[in-house]
Amino acid sequence: MTKILSVNAGSSSLKFKLLNMPEEDVIAEGVIERIGAGLDQDDNVTIKLNGEKHKSRQEFDDHEQAINFMLAQFKELGIVKDFNEIKGIGHRVVAGGEWFNKSVLVDDEVLKKVERLAAYAPLHNAANALGIRAFSKIIPEAVEVVVFDTAFHQTMPKENYLYAIPYEYYTKYGVRRYGAHGTSHKYVAEQAAKLLGKPLEDLKLITMHLGAGASITAIKNGKSYDTSMGFSPLAGLMMATRSGDVDYSLMNYVKGKEGLSDQETLDILNHKSGLLGVSTISSDMRDLLDVYDTNDHAKLAVDMFVDRVVDYIGQYYFELQGADALVFTAGIGENSIPVRKMVIDKLAFLGVKLDEEANSKRGSATEITTADSKIKAFMIPTNEELEIARDVQRLMK
Ligand code: AMP
Repeated sequence: MTKILSVNAGSSSLKFKLLNMPEEDVIAEGVIERIGAGLDQDDNVTIKLNGEKHKSRQEFDDHEQAINFMLAQFKELGIVKDFNEIKGIGHRVVAGGEWFNKSVLVDDEVLKKVERLAAYAPLHNAANALGIRAFSKIIPEAVEVVVFDTAFHQTMPKENYLYAIPYEYYTKYGVRRYGAHGTSHKYVAEQAAKLLGKPLEDLKLITMHLGAGASITAIKNGKSYDTSMGFSPLAGLMMATRSGDVDYSLMNYVKGKEGLSDQETLDILNHKSGLLGVSTISSDMRDLLDVYDTNDHAKLAVDMFVDRVVDYIGQYYFELQGADALVFTAGIGENSIPVRKMVIDKLAFLGVKLDEEANSKRGSATEITTADSKIKAFMIPTNEELEIARDVQRLMK
């Protein structure tokens, strides 16, 4: 039994899950928010242990302080007696560029590359690197591993990852499609293969990570073949507050009309668009579904979201020359019964048939199509932290 910690450091937050491996039992999990951002009235630390939530309010100037506090809480709550009980730490890193096509052990060179890749994901990679440095200082004995969101997508063929812009920008600056949510797509694909009782290498899957951030991946022979997120996580599907794909010249036009700076334009596309921008009321799918029948804007936003998902399924169905299964995961994919229904109903002409009863359940992984459906569909809860812990364990060996 080995304790392994999965860490997801955001620009002002730190999410963590401590697992016993290889049993894959969760010991504790939690989140620290408002790091370096001052306090508001709310508790900013939550640690979940044995089904009980321990909340507190504590100011942190930086990630190192937050990590020290989290570990002190681990001792206080009896989660560990000694920090050295944590034998491995896996860090989620957003951008791995073309340098990383799999998870790797942390060393100085890896850490420098993570920092250099902050050029691609400024807020995320910088925070990820801070997290790694802080843990190396506090638990130097632990094996540290970085798990990249982009790594799974490094198998995409060139025709799928290049943009139709002058080739020199790719060679000079590495601008291309990198994708995201790779750990999640990989995890649910492995689970789908288990449910189908077939080797992942023999399958064509379309995996849909539909959360606040959303992406769809075409998986061929167990490998990412195409994915909807692009150079950055702004691309592809319509998301909670992100626009997904838009015609570049359109925003250039709006920018001129509104007198916006480059940063303001990016902020609008990242934070004020998507479900929020179209509905004008909320970025949360639950809120929009609540008023779907009474609010035209909410209905339009949901319908557009579903439409974009179906567009990508169609694209990937053709790219893969068919599909063995569709997989829904993440906040919306796992919980939103109406969204899954709307998507599947639009595929009826392909012979995809929803099992209404199976689709009405939440919780553990389940097949949501009928036995005679031409393509199977599954709801599979994602578990990025477990996938990270598995990688740590593999590399510790
Ligand atoms: P995630 O980023 O994976 O945590 O997903 C967060 C999003 O999932 C929220 O913003 C909601 O839009 C959505 N969500 C969570 N629960 C539900 C639900 N019961 N019905 C519809 N959407 C949900």
